[in-house]
Amino acid sequence: MYVCIVGTGYVGLVTGVCLAHIGHQVVCVDNNEEKVRLMQAGTSPIYEPQLSEIMQAALDAGRIEFTTDLAAGVAQGQIVFIAVGTPALPSGESDTRSVEAVARGIGSHLNGAYKVIVNKSTVPIGSGDWVRMLMLEGYAQRHLTTQVATRLSESGGNSTGSIATTEIATLVKKPAFDVVSNPEFLREGSAVYDTLNPDRIVLGGSEPAIALMRELYTPIIAREPAEHQSLPSVPVVITDLNSAEMIKYAANAFLATKISFINEVANICDRVGADITQVAKGIGLDSRIGSQFLQAGIGWGGSCFPKDVSALIHTAADYGYEAPLLKAVVSVNRHQRLLVIAKLQKMLKSLKGKTIGLLGITFKPNTDDLRDAPSLSIIEHLTRLGAKVKAYEPILSQTGTRTGLSDVIMETDPERLAMGCDSLILVTDWQEFQTLNYAHLATLMHHPVMIDGRNFLQPQTLEAAGFSYVGIGR
Ligand code: NAD
Repeated sequence: MYVCIVGTGYVGLVTGVCLAHIGHQVVCVDNNEEKVRLMQAGTSPIYEPQLSEIMQAALDAGRIEFTTDLAAGVAQGQIVFIAVGTPALPSGESDTRSVEAVARGIGSHLNGAYKVIVNKSTVPIGSGDWVRMLMLEGYAQRHLTTQVATRLSESGGNSTGSIATTEIATLVKKPAFDVVSNPEFLREGSAVYDTLNPDRIVLGGSEPAIALMRELYTPIIAREPAEHQSLPSVPVVITDLNSAEMIKYAANAFLATKISFINEVANICDRVGADITQVAKGIGLDSRIGSQFLQAGIGWGGSCFPKDVSALIHTAADYGYEAPLLKAVVSVNRHQRLLVIAKLQKMLKSLKGKTIGLLGITFKPNTDDLRDAPSLSIIEHLTRLGAKVKAYEPILSQTGTRTGLSDVIMETDPERLAMGCDSLILVTDWQEFQTLNYAHLATLMHHPVMIDGRNFLQPQTLEAAGFSYVGIGR
């Protein structure tokens, strides 16, 4: 099938590359010229495991192309995905300006053939109907301008007032399209794997668009590109637009709640002398609870949970509901992000003039994404308290990518990071941090203190290496 993806970030690029991988003909559109030039040259502007390899294979097979030309993309796509960013506004509300611009743009380029427009961006409930309205406006505006210009030139330049409103309406034929909500559940750090091996596919909308979406995903539903092909086919949830949009928000809000819950229990463990890692194991084995998202630590962050939970609270308020549970989830998380600072102060007393080294700064391992990472709050607070902050980050340090952070010195390896530090804080649980030579790192530090913000290391191993070890709730 012919597919157009508008917005080539973590979601759009991965979706486009994976759809090309399963045999579709894909054109990816982005308004960032620099990104498009990179992708045309075969370089992914983001890091995701496997992405570069399958992107190159799709380019070599001629199944994917990249452009800034929205009109060309819309002309080619039978199915057009909207996958642009929807960050949070300061009010917590979702900033949907990019979706608005793209929806109008797609509408203005509709060419008569039936198309399915897919909302893959996470958008406030009701956005399916809003996108339809914007597309109709975009379409009408462009076609009216053309038609009226023609009529004006035919009438020798008389004003548009000479064309009756009813006549204008008949000049513009209704374009044939349907809007579908197809929320994305991929996890950064395993985005390609998740796209080819989803737990479920959610489709909100009506026929015939739903049938085309099913056809698009047939190989994935049948687990053809999956790692475990013997698994039963991927469940497809077919529902209305609003419910599909709500499924995305509810899923992220639930996962954030689970993390805030275990962090709250960890804080109680800290006080009563219980070990949260044992408690999490004990409750996670209960099949009604499950063990995922029960790792106590410095809290949730990243480009989705914070903004999606805020947006859901905001939507609830718009409809007169206060959402007290979700507000508490946010409040626990805000406190949790700065818990490592309190633990550091307990170990080192004043942080003025101290040097603190961060192991990892991305919000999770295997990604280069820093959006709303807990490290940003930690860096800001440490700096405010007069500490010097250094960091080692496997991907950003390797690629030399600039972090855009002025208050942190990026080091190129863990040894340079440890040199002269009064404490290390493990911020991101990168696998390579399990096997560092901690005995050697301890000899390079002023005070070998380790604040393990993810409960990722073995306390006994660190203590044997000469560190004073402090975890979260253990
Ligand atoms: P992103 O910021 O990485 O990518 C957005 C892309 O859209 C950028 O490349 C940007 O240049 C492009 N863009 C913006 N305006 C445009 C326009 N007018 N025309 C063409 N291109 C335009 O964002 P992302 O992380 O991929 O997220 C996209 C959406 O998917 C968001 O709504 C997000 O909430 C949702 N989502 C993200 C994830 C995730 O893990 N990142 C997971 C699930 C859902």
